[in-house]
Amino acid sequence: MAFKLPELGYAYNALEPNIDAKTMEIHHSKHHNGYTTKLNGAIEGTDLDGKPIEDILGNLDMNNKAVRNNGGGFYNHSLFWTVMNPEGKGRLSGALKDAIESKFKTFDAFKDDFSKAAATQFGSGWAWLCAHKDGSVSVCSTPNQDNPLMPGVACEGTPILGLDVWEHAYYLNYQNRRPDYIEAFFNVINWNEVERRYAEATK
Ligand code: MN
Repeated sequence: MAFKLPELGYAYNALEPNIDAKTMEIHHSKHHNGYTTKLNGAIEGTDLDGKPIEDILGNLDMNNKAVRNNGGGFYNHSLFWTVMNPEGKGRLSGALKDAIESKFKTFDAFKDDFSKAAATQFGSGWAWLCAHKDGSVSVCSTPNQDNPLMPGVACEGTPILGLDVWEHAYYLNYQNRRPDYIEAFFNVINWNEVERRYAEATK
């Protein structure tokens, strides 16, 4: 059973002006689609075929570059689309709010930490908010299409919020201004979905 490019769940222009329609269209229909197709090609006929993506990444041979890059790309973007929403719905609340404030003291301090992780990831990569079994949370970043599920990555836990800082994610609208894109991302975070992922990861 091959992996399938997930639907966005909203229109390409739904995140404007924070993320422009052309960027969303190319990102989803070209980049994410490419990772999906190449992942399917890389696992076809191997013993990874048919396994859930979380299992594939969690037990990954990190020397398997095709699955590392494309499996990571498939998973990371699948998460990314869901943690954004066009309606500004979902305020941070409940258990995740408590966990963030327990770790960072204030939401603004968390935002600073996450933004710094995203801004200082050299070259291409992702910034993450991760949940841990004990209910705590942490912020980290990974290069390329790596993610916290992969073995030996210096970034642990279950990713519940991720921000793509590859240039393809922002260059059309923001050019070299990655910090402006990071700031805009905070306007469209779907906290309801992040909280759902937190509950799932810590249950
Ligand atoms: Mn991307």
